[in-house]
Amino acid sequence: PPTEGRPDVLVVGGGIGGLSTAFALAREGLRIRVLERAPEFGEVGAGLQIAPNCTRILDEYGLLDEAKELGVVPENMVMRDALDSRELIRLDLGDLERRYGFPYMVIHRSDLHAIFLRACRRAGVDLVTDRTVVDYENTAGGARITLADGGTEEAPLVIAADGLRSVARQKLVGDDVVSSDYVAYRAAVPIEQVRDNGIAEKDVTVYVGPRCHFVQYALRGGDMFNQVAVFQSPKALAGQEDWGTPDELDAAFEGTCETVGKGIPLMWRDRWWQMMDRDPIDTWVHGRVVLLGDAAHPPLQYMAQGAIMAIEDGWVLSRHVARLRAEDAAPSAVDWDAALAAYEAVRVEHCRRILTTARAWGELWHLDGTERLQRNAIMRSIDPAEYAFTDWVYGPTALFPDEEPPMFRPVPLASARIEEDEASASD
Ligand code: FAD
Repeated sequence: PPTEGRPDVLVVGGGIGGLSTAFALAREGLRIRVLERAPEFGEVGAGLQIAPNCTRILDEYGLLDEAKELGVVPENMVMRDALDSRELIRLDLGDLERRYGFPYMVIHRSDLHAIFLRACRRAGVDLVTDRTVVDYENTAGGARITLADGGTEEAPLVIAADGLRSVARQKLVGDDVVSSDYVAYRAAVPIEQVRDNGIAEKDVTVYVGPRCHFVQYALRGGDMFNQVAVFQSPKALAGQEDWGTPDELDAAFEGTCETVGKGIPLMWRDRWWQMMDRDPIDTWVHGRVVLLGDAAHPPLQYMAQGAIMAIEDGWVLSRHVARLRAEDAAPSAVDWDAALAAYEAVRVEHCRRILTTARAWGELWHLDGTERLQRNAIMRSIDPAEYAFTDWVYGPTALFPDEEPPMFRPVPLASARIEEDEASASD
């Protein structure tokens, strides 16, 4: 394996973004070294939804069968109102697969991460743990990173895939993370524990409610059940530092329907995720240091596209590397500036759309009162078979800006016609 000597690319961060990108570039014959801060490679958390725009890439990488073995291909994606549990919209995921050619599936995060880790090992990626990168600078022939112990490493390209709290982003852009005042609780439990809770084992179900929502789906071949509970923290709104704590969880879901109510006591209470994103930015490429994944575009997770965008980033970059290399040239003879410009030209705009839509989606999901009823009416009126609202996300990942499909623009709330029985039921 090509691990000896100076790498062609240094990847900082061995999350799903860093590893998938390392693998994509190693497939092109490049020598890649990944530097990860943690003592071991791994992922915390539970389930991850991966849509056809991601399974298409996994298939190209030869990793889809492995993902399918470890994950679950659900039958439907169903959105329900969290208070009265009425169905709002149903996507038949079999139809979705026929439209896009690849499945919508769910997988344990650690399983997807492990798939990329194994693929990197097979491809000869140099995987190094216990390396905290504290600084970045451009050099004459590339870029240099500085480690916490004072050591330095150089390569023609440095990819910063160091996540939401990216050191590279801090150094190169200097913007702040944006708090949403929402917090996520997760749980993955044996399926036997939830069979009597009124769950739909074959579906991904999202219950949307006032200032909260709840997601459920089966994992690991159907043996486990994943739940995510998200709510607005009153302590966050009050400006308290320690917010989103377990005492707020139960109160946030009071008054929700039976299935949600039965799910809440199962949530892990020793760990929670305060939900942050960042405003979209236009520049990810700073000389030979480039931002990728959450470091470039951390979203709120309402579109379930965060890890997918990171995987797409690496795929797009690798396709431009393949395109911009002279035939018969050594694998490392890449026109990096052109490849990076092409990457930035297409990815910045796509991810900006996902980030801004995720914020809008979050607002829509969490409405209360009349607006909640208007939202429900609009959701019920959408014909999922029109695909206008999924094509721009689940279609093939664009390599060039002119391949990016038009963005779906939702109908304004005020245009909704609320059914009489619903209006009176909410009085
Ligand atoms: P990270 O996973 O954060 O990885 C960064 C890595 O860099 C880490 O390993 C870290 O240890 C390392 N690192 C950090 N700093 C340094 C340093 N200075 N030096 C060296 N190494 C460093 N996405 C989906 O696609 N589908 C979903 O269904 C979905 N659901 C989600 C649900 C929740 C509740 C949340 C919070 C997120 C969800 N996401 C989902 C988003 C997804 O988890 C992230 O977008 C994705 O994991 C980002 O990957 P990354 O590799 O860019 O960053």
